Amino acid sequence: MQAFEATNHFFDQAAKELELTSNVRTLLITPDREVRVEVAIEMDSGKIGNFIGYRVQHDNARGPFKGGLRYHPMVDQDEARSLASLMTWKTALVDLPYGGAKGGVNCDPNKLSKGELERITRKFTEKIHDLIGPQKDIPAPDMGTDAQVMAWIMNEYAKYEGFHPACVTGKPVEFHGSEGREAATGFGVAIVTREVLAKLKSTVAGTTFAIQGYGNVGSHTARRLAAMGAKILSISDAYGAVHNPEGIDIAELDRHMAVSHKIVGFKGGDTTTNEQLLTMPVDVLIPAALGGVFDAERAKAVQARIIVEAANGPIWPEADQIFNERGILVVPDILANAGGVIVSYFEWVQNLQHFRWPLEQIEREEERKLVSAFEDVYKLAQRKSVSLRTAAFMKAIARVGRAHVLGGM
Ligand code: GLU
Repeated sequence: MQAFEATNHFFDQAAKELELTSNVRTLLITPDREVRVEVAIEMDSGKIGNFIGYRVQHDNARGPFKGGLRYHPMVDQDEARSLASLMTWKTALVDLPYGGAKGGVNCDPNKLSKGELERITRKFTEKIHDLIGPQKDIPAPDMGTDAQVMAWIMNEYAKYEGFHPACVTGKPVEFHGSEGREAATGFGVAIVTREVLAKLKSTVAGTTFAIQGYGNVGSHTARRLAAMGAKILSISDAYGAVHNPEGIDIAELDRHMAVSHKIVGFKGGDTTTNEQLLTMPVDVLIPAALGGVFDAERAKAVQARIIVEAANGPIWPEADQIFNERGILVVPDILANAGGVIVSYFEWVQNLQHFRWPLEQIEREEERKLVSAFEDVYKLAQRKSVSLRTAAFMKAIARVGRAHVLGGM
């Protein structure tokens, strides 16, 4: 099974509850537009580097397409399609006036110089500038891209279309970005985790965690949870993992990361493996790395009580079913990691208004949106006896479907 098929499987579970007809189903799952472009640049060596870029615009019934750009060797059309579809449901679930899109460039940013990354970004923007824009499609950071990449996109876009900071979100704070955007996804994961624990009459303080991934999302999640008193027993990155039964000191880990950029070698715990992290006995497991982490076999070995999907699409359908059968509560990606796009929306609004909001306002509004979406999903799941994922999809599909009806064919 490929990623887009997996996303559609989750869609179908909700579509069945909603009794959607097959015509409406096809209308809602089919991407609106898909582009694939060659991104050829001069490498530092003088050779030509040929990369392929993608942008999938999934649905815009509720507003402009919105979603990240990923720079990673796994980027392809199918992955972009799946992630674009997830963005449609995510923006609808947290009630943002957007549709969904996703894209990226198939490349390995770890093997590229800053100059090469800039040339790839500018060339890709040149190729898609007429498809994006503040009222059309607004890219943002995702895996392998950051605020600097967004700044280059804004600057390159201006060469064709003029000054439009709202054409992209996740920009540096001092370059038309928003306070709180960088930490927004991790902050949101922590808020949603707090809410789900509260439903189970528990608190973050004293609860044990394992976090897979220490990039933007994983690291901010860990910091927020630690500040709330979490006991984070294990953390991994692409190269290895660390474990400390007393809880990892996150501030100490950050000091280590600032110097060595890898978890391996951190003295505040024992070395362990990614596999052990995923299956160790903890209360809450947070995948915050790539998609497709849990297949059936791994799902059977998981010992956590709760999984919070900070990453997009970390659980395959067969694993999802096993988690449901085993009574492991899964908080789905389109809810758990929606904090990022919520603050992207605040950034876009600030850009359009040429006005800046303070951090307290950003965090307060982000929290309010997430808590309200969580409540809606939780109640619906209880009322219909469905998983949180199916309830989240039901809410989102109903909103997108309604926009199609109101807008007319
Ligand atoms: N890439 C992030 C996501 O998957 C953020 C998208 C955005 O801010 O537009 O939700």
